[in-house]
Amino acid sequence: MKVPLLDLKGQYQSIKTEIDGAVQQVIDSQYFIMGPDIAKLEEEISNYLNCQFAVGVSSGTDALLLALMVLDIEPGDEIIVPTYSFFATAGVVARLNAKPVFVDVDPVTFNIDPKQIEKKITSKTKAIIPVHLYGQSAAMTEIMSISRKYSLFVVEDAAQAIGTQYKDSRFAGTIGDMGCFSFFPSKNLGGFGDGGIVTTNNPNFEHKLKIMRVHGMEPKYYHKVIGGNFRLDSLQAAVLRVKLKYLDSWSEKRRQNAAAYTKYFIEAGLAEAEGKLTFDDKNKVLLPEAIYKETGHKNYHIYNQFIIRVEKRNELWDFMKKKEIGCEVYYPVPFHRQECFDYLKSNDKDYPNSNFASEHSLALPIYPELTDEQIKYVVDSIAEFVKG
Ligand SMILES: *Cc1c(COP(=O)(O)O)cnc(C)c1O
Repeated sequence: MKVPLLDLKGQYQSIKTEIDGAVQQVIDSQYFIMGPDIAKLEEEISNYLNCQFAVGVSSGTDALLLALMVLDIEPGDEIIVPTYSFFATAGVVARLNAKPVFVDVDPVTFNIDPKQIEKKITSKTKAIIPVHLYGQSAAMTEIMSISRKYSLFVVEDAAQAIGTQYKDSRFAGTIGDMGCFSFFPSKNLGGFGDGGIVTTNNPNFEHKLKIMRVHGMEPKYYHKVIGGNFRLDSLQAAVLRVKLKYLDSWSEKRRQNAAAYTKYFIEAGLAEAEGKLTFDDKNKVLLPEAIYKETGHKNYHIYNQFIIRVEKRNELWDFMKKKEIGCEVYYPVPFHRQECFDYLKSNDKDYPNSNFASEHSLALPIYPELTDEQIKYVVDSIAEFVKG
């Protein structure tokens, strides 16, 4: 049985008529730049996330970059980021000639460990970028209280977390000063190309986001500040508006798939319901769902990725390739080990949890259209590898 990592064709087929109609409308209008779908999408997303403003932008990376530009981040400023995330989280900081300051992740949630943030704060620290990795909220209560104590901005990297809810039921991306989302095709709300959006409850930030998105222009051809071309395409907005209506049902399906994985892994004797964080006879596979219980978190996890941790990760990955099961490693190299950040002279020993995650995690297929039979086959295959 073939199990792909993601099945975007299946998703498109299920809503093809609606999507094709929306795209055709934009084509008929020839209104490709800042057409009416942009403002409508912004309104629908801010309603969906229960926040005041949303500003469509060209990608999740540009969402982060623009947010930092709006905060006037300058060369030499220090920005705190988890060392285990997609590259953009740290890349945007370095692009502004600011300094990314790495913090290890929590071994249970893979999100930035709030207990390790304070010791990295200096007089140059301007902001924290927590990442809601894989679709689970970071520890926002702790992070917001640190940010208030030291007067730091919080820019949430919610690229993988549209619809994720923190345990107080606020949406990820609406708790800090700005929230940055990505519409990359493989995200839970994916466009037909690049796209992103920045959310905020601060009208000054919204105003600045909107003018800096178009070269800092206000009024036309008069520039008070320097921005860039950070616009979202009208075609993408039209596609995303159709897909947004289905997002909750897709997230629910991902959560059901995660529950099915957990059940099958426990039944196969590969994991314990109250999973521990070490590999032993009873825990061959460390599950996100089981360890999530251990922390007492009640986050609404939307499972952009379902990540297991296994001792022989690379061998299992090879085995799964032979079985034609799509798996992926997110992320094999944490920031402190990236060549481009050699100049920061990080100490590898400061980041044991991120190193462990990068060496042992494997993403399994979790997309909404996955069948129960496929999930069972994935677990059976892992059991064959572990026991074989
Ligand atoms: C995808 C992603 C981004 C970047 O989004 P793009 O739309 O690909 O630019 C940033 N941060 C995280 C955590 C991501 O997963």
